[in-house]
Amino acid sequence: MLEKAERLDLLESVLRAMHLGAIVLDQQRRIVLWNAWMARHAGRPEEDVCGRSLFAVFPDLLGKRIDQAITQALDDGFPSVLSQTLHKAPFPLFADMAACLAEERMQQAVSVSPLKMPNGQRHCLIQINDVTVAVNREKLLRVQALELRSQTFSDGLTGIANRRHFDVAMEKEVRRAKRVNAPMSLMMIDIDYFKAYNDHYGHQQGDACLVAVASTLAAMLQRSTDLIARYGGEEFVVILPEMDAPQAARLAEAMRKRIEELNLPHAQSGVADRVTVSIGLATQSFTNPLDEATLLGRADKALYQAKRDGRNRVVN
Ligand code: GH3
Ligand code: MG
Ligand code: MG
Repeated sequence: MLEKAERLDLLESVLRAMHLGAIVLDQQRRIVLWNAWMARHAGRPEEDVCGRSLFAVFPDLLGKRIDQAITQALDDGFPSVLSQTLHKAPFPLFADMAACLAEERMQQAVSVSPLKMPNGQRHCLIQINDVTVAVNREKLLRVQALELRSQTFSDGLTGIANRRHFDVAMEKEVRRAKRVNAPMSLMMIDIDYFKAYNDHYGHQQGDACLVAVASTLAAMLQRSTDLIARYGGEEFVVILPEMDAPQAARLAEAMRKRIEELNLPHAQSGVADRVTVSIGLATQSFTNPLDEATLLGRADKALYQAKRDGRNRVVN
């Protein structure tokens, strides 16, 4: 067993060595203990702050959540842990001089615990952990997850939704349309004589044409629930929730016309002197709910009909 004096020396060394901020306040919120970690990261030595009120040293903390937590510990004897997402950096603490100059506070995990003193008085211990690394790692992971998600659900060439995204959205929208008894339309769009376009202008220009057509069509969708996806090769599909057949036919005709007006030369097209599209339409009405496969099949059949009827047209 250590002698009492030795124990005190040991505790002093422990406090000095800890990678953690430790502050003890008395009942009047005066600082009675301030460890070396606090001195280093707050840039205030112990002799500057001891005996002073915490709120005189850090006036910004007055009225904040930490103030309540201290009151709770001192007056009611309740411990608190400050939510890290809500209170990222309550104390003006800095990793180093450079961070201090840049005013970049360290991210903190703070807890406040009541301490029962031998004389019956209550003090409280504030512990502060530097969680900057963990918070930054979390931020990075979140960004990466978002990026990965958008890569998984978007088409690499055109940037619009990909087939996988379409499949997920289609299932959801068909179910929703049935549930709320709303109509829903589906559009299949295919570029006319695109193989000839590629053969004549080259694959690279073919890609550029796909990008131009995709972005032109995407820009025509006004509602956030409308979704255009690249269905495959030079074929696009558009989900139009709450849109009946006449509305969808008007939109399809406007799309067909807009592509024609892009005036992208297509010397080998069998139907015009420029790039054109054929569009097939299908609508599920609330009196006639369909499953996804039937709806898709109908739109595909209508597209095939548009091709047979001479291309550069809309069929429903
Ligand atoms: P139709 O008018 O009947 O639609 O004739 P089409 O030539 O457009 O139809 P087909 O399906 O025979 O040809 C599609 C062509 O699209 C084949 C391929 O060369 C081209 N294609 C598919 N995906 C891509 C792509 O990612 N980039 C490029 N540049 N071309 C592609
Ligand atoms: Mg085609
Ligand atoms: Mg095709």
